Amino acid sequence: MKAAVVNEFKKKLEIKDVPMPKAGYGEIVVKIEASGVCHTDLHAAHGDWPVKPKLPLVPGHEGTGTVVEVGENVSHIKVGDRVGIPWLYSACGHCEFCLTGRETLCKDQLNSGYSIDGAYAEYCLANANYVVKIPDNISFIDAAPLFCAGVTTYKALKVSKAKPGDWVAIFGIGGLGHLAVQYAKAMGFNVIAVDILEEKLTLAKELGADLTVNGKETDVSKFIQEKVGGAHASVCVAVSKIAFNQAYSCLRRGGVCVPVGLPPENMEIPIFDTVLNAIQVIGSIVGTRKDLQETLQFAAEGKVKSIIEVRKLEEINEIFEELEHGKVNGRIVVDMSKS
Ligand code: NAD
Ligand code: ZN
Ligand code: ZN
Repeated sequence: MKAAVVNEFKKKLEIKDVPMPKAGYGEIVVKIEASGVCHTDLHAAHGDWPVKPKLPLVPGHEGTGTVVEVGENVSHIKVGDRVGIPWLYSACGHCEFCLTGRETLCKDQLNSGYSIDGAYAEYCLANANYVVKIPDNISFIDAAPLFCAGVTTYKALKVSKAKPGDWVAIFGIGGLGHLAVQYAKAMGFNVIAVDILEEKLTLAKELGADLTVNGKETDVSKFIQEKVGGAHASVCVAVSKIAFNQAYSCLRRGGVCVPVGLPPENMEIPIFDTVLNAIQVIGSIVGTRKDLQETLQFAAEGKVKSIIEVRKLEEINEIFEELEHGKVNGRIVVDMSKS
């Protein structure tokens, strides 16, 4: 079968023939119809993070498609089911975190397109217990970005503890951020969208953002403090340390900063202000299967919709280039039927 493969960090991906996966115990094989391209795949291909992915690697953790094979001991998923394969390929199921509905914190987790080959391929292996079914009225293409960008931002907004009517600042209106704006509006928040590119701010406005700020041209924190008295919460999905520092300093007293983006840098957290203003900084990593079901439900009800540019798998190196330079509006999704 055809797949896009990272052979070496920071080198171009190779489109090549690789062996078809075979469903083992508790596993399924999914014929991939659509595959979203997340900035995380770029970090993986560059080897950006302290824990490196396997090599060679087939990236991709926003894969959607049809189940074509089920292995032994799989009863709740059948051949023909429409499913998506998220970042959390599997977790142990019995540790402190798994037992308390926090499976994304499991220390024995495997990740699609990182420690296990992912969805930049015609077929992909999945653990039957960790895939989530796609509602009938969402297409494979529309569903793909929800499996990472959607669930991650929906979960981050829950972690932010914001309430309807609160001001929530979203930093970075890319693949994740453009969905964050929509989930935040659907959850009843007032939204401030921050990016450094004007076209991203235009998109945010179209998607319902109440205020937009260009982080390169304006003193963002001052603007937010003066305009609304500081944000109740901020979610930072930008791939830049500067945005994280702004996401902290734009908060009002008692505010919550939720770091989500993963630039290989550190953010600055001043001790004095954090203590005196009782600021909370709470990291957020993807979302659980339950979060994912809720994420999909919003889309099934027409409350959110990914802005998508459809491309071919063969264009993956150009797509990475465009993503790296902020040229993607919304999310790029690879349509496997066109590849
Ligand atoms: P993307 O490239 O589509 O979007 C990034 C956006 O940030 C772009 O619109 C860019 O213009 C903007 N940006 C860059 N510098 C900025 C600045 N200084 N201020 C404001 N905006 C700025 O990327 P994406 O796919 O949305 O992913 C974003 C990040 O989130 C990546 O680091 C990715 O690895 C991470 N991520 C984290 C999780 C998680 O669970 N925590 C899940 C998925 C992705
Ligand atoms: Zn992702
Ligand atoms: Zn566990």
